[in-house]
Amino acid sequence: MLPAVVILVVMAVFSLDDGNDVIHADSQKVFIDPGHGGSDSGSTGNGLLEKNVTLDIALKTRNILDHDYEGHSVQLSRTSDQKVSLDERTNMANSWGADYLVSIHINAGGGSGFESYTYDGSYPGKDETNRLRGIVHDDVVNQTGFYDRGKKEADFHMVRETAMPAVLTENGFIDNEADAASLKSESFLTSIARGHAEGIADALNLSERSQAYVEVVADSLWTYNSADWDDRASIVSKGEVFTVTRDKFTVGDGEMYQLENGNYISANSNYVRYFRE
Ligand SMILES: [Zn+2]
Repeated sequence: MLPAVVILVVMAVFSLDDGNDVIHADSQKVFIDPGHGGSDSGSTGNGLLEKNVTLDIALKTRNILDHDYEGHSVQLSRTSDQKVSLDERTNMANSWGADYLVSIHINAGGGSGFESYTYDGSYPGKDETNRLRGIVHDDVVNQTGFYDRGKKEADFHMVRETAMPAVLTENGFIDNEADAASLKSESFLTSIARGHAEGIADALNLSERSQAYVEVVADSLWTYNSADWDDRASIVSKGEVFTVTRDKFTVGDGEMYQLENGNYISANSNYVRYFRE
């Protein structure tokens, strides 16, 4: 068995490296940068810390990209509440060879709504950078209904020190009561993330992924209210089909899928059949 596996892996590597027939699956590298983190809270107001909101939006954006699209990989500058310097962020994106970078922030200082920034210097590819920014900008405004403060340029580190097209988004004002109320809403944060994800996907021409389903193949099977084997919801029957919104993940000794109806189900292939169409 082993030698065959090794040969297959080697063949896969060679076929990816074959410059004559480049397959673009997984070739688009998306770098998402949740602003601030750790001891750097960013702006604060109305009980919110910018670092937490930006991380939430970034993680949601990644999840939507990975769930709804294919032909890309995503890297984040941080996935938890940690301090990462600006140089570390751009070094990470540059050395990874990202195709596109989106830095997510929340505004402050009096105002309301959404604005985005690209680098205000002159550089090769500036028109293309601004074209890609326009797609993300418009998708975020369309998804959120944010007041549109405009497509702007500035001398910000995250858009200046990046070797690839880069945009920095300012998603509402944390010190504005109405914006902050929106930023406390899960569904609004999801809209912001969806705007970013769809914008990135449109900008990079990512393909929409087929929808994932599970069909129950056991005679009857428990579903769960949460990712907890003890938190049983209801029994489903053989032949029932459910839309999957979160792919297989580990829960205790087993694995689960999350379903569109909010419930969870075993991912054990003795009990369910997973398919896409
Ligand atoms: Zn910020």
